Amino acid sequence: MIKTVGNILGMLLDTCCLVCGSPLPADQLICEKCTDSSYNPCRTAGEYEIYHAGHYTYPLSNIITLYKYHSHPRISTVLSGLLSRLYTDMDMNLQAFTVTFIPSNRKSIFEKGFTPAELIAKKFSHTFGLEFRKIFSSESKERQVTLDKDRRTSNVKLYIDGHIPKKTVIIDDVYTTGATMRTACRLLAEQSLRVVGITVAKTS
Ligand SMILES: [Zn+2]
Repeated sequence: MIKTVGNILGMLLDTCCLVCGSPLPADQLICEKCTDSSYNPCRTAGEYEIYHAGHYTYPLSNIITLYKYHSHPRISTVLSGLLSRLYTDMDMNLQAFTVTFIPSNRKSIFEKGFTPAELIAKKFSHTFGLEFRKIFSSESKERQVTLDKDRRTSNVKLYIDGHIPKKTVIIDDVYTTGATMRTACRLLAEQSLRVVGITVAKTS
C-alpha cells in the first residue's frame, strides 16, 4: 500500500538522478549523463569470450550499488540498456542464443528480494527476442558425491540445474576476480558450440 502511494506520488512529481542529483522526469531514476558516462565497453582476454559494458568506477559503481543494495530493482532497465548497447557495438552475433545468469546465494536473494543478474538477463533476452532460461544453481540440489566431475567445482559453488543449450550467453552484474564467470563458462563449454559471458561492470 505504502509502495503504491509512493509510486503514484512518483508519477506526479519530478525527481532527481539518484547518482548526481540533477532533475529528471518522474519515470526515470538515473540521468542520461550518468548512464552515458558509465558505458566504457571492454573485453577480458583469456580462454573465454567475456565482455563488460563498463568499469566498476563512478558513476557505474554507484548505479550498481543503488540497484543491488538499496532496493531499486527498476535500475535493471538502465543496466540492461548498457548491455544492449554493448551487444550492438561489439557485434557479438548472439542469434539463437539462450540467455542465462549467475545466481545469487540464497541469503543474498532473501535480503534483496530479487536476483540482480536475473532481472538484467531477463530484460536483455526480451530486448533481442532470445530465449531466457535458468541454467545454474548456486546450491546443489543433489548430494555432492552423486555428481560427476563436470557438474561440481571445488572452489566456486555453481552447479548446472538444467540441460545445456548449444549456445549460451551468461549474464552477471560485476566481474571481480572472474572466477565465477570462468567456472560458469567452463561448465558449459565442453558441451556447447559457443559460450559468451557478459557483465555490466569489471573491477580494475
Ligand atoms: Zn546523473
